[in-house]
Amino acid sequence: MADILLKNIGKRYKNSDTLSVSNFNLDIKHKEFIVFVGPSGCGKSTTLRMIAGLEEITDGELFIDNKLMNDVAPKNRDIAMVFQNYALYPHMTVYDNMAFGLKIKKTPKAEIDARVKEAAKILGLEDYLKRKPKALSGGQRQRVALGRAMVRNPKVFLMDEPLSNLDAKLRLQMRAEISKLHRRLDTTTIYVTHDQTEAMTMASRIVIMKDGVIQQIGTPKEVYNHP
Ligand code: ADP
Ligand code: ADP
Repeated sequence: MADILLKNIGKRYKNSDTLSVSNFNLDIKHKEFIVFVGPSGCGKSTTLRMIAGLEEITDGELFIDNKLMNDVAPKNRDIAMVFQNYALYPHMTVYDNMAFGLKIKKTPKAEIDARVKEAAKILGLEDYLKRKPKALSGGQRQRVALGRAMVRNPKVFLMDEPLSNLDAKLRLQMRAEISKLHRRLDTTTIYVTHDQTEAMTMASRIVIMKDGVIQQIGTPKEVYNHP
């Protein structure tokens, strides 16, 4: 279960005198796949990072399952985030990269092992568990990043341009894999992209942003008149 409510959310960075995000209102239901789309600098990442707790919310309220989250630490938010640059630990194997967050939480070894192997199976990484990230392709690295997020069994998945570093063919393939993963897991997903085609094909609802505000919210059909 994860319903997410953003109520009049705003962000003013400390060193800035303008609002990077303002009056952001959005009611997200469990299992939705929300895509934030808009040009570079419109506030997509900032909004995502506020939901993750990586950036302070300077205005408004964030609720997850009716609980006010503004002051809840990232590690207590039950959220996993996947980044554009994968953010893998270069000196660790694929296995250890995927296991790391669970180890920190002192999850029993047998359970870590089961969860990592299950994720590896789903993501087609079973044969790569002993490799280091530098011995993987871009698509495989992004699968490891997805696996690392997945093993935490998060209620919410946040993805910030996860496919931007991949070539066109792989982007297409990973797009389908992420959609499939979302359907399979019991999560709510918020996905940031500047790619309209990604938004159209993946979203249950699209949020179009410009200059820190929402311009439009709707299904792909409503937003792009796409059948
Ligand atoms: P997007 O993800 O849509 O490209 P961002 O959320 O990264 O947009 O940025 C929104 C606005 O906030 C931009 O004007 C950007 O320059 C500004 N911004 C982002 N991060 C910071 C920061 N750490 N300090 C000050 N301004 C920032
Ligand atoms: P951990 O691997 O235990 O999460 P980190 O030092 O990598 O530890 O992360 C610092 C904080 O950011 C932690 O509170 C953690 O819960 C949170 N965090 C780490 N990875 C992610 C992620 N992929 N998505 C969201 N939050 C994360």
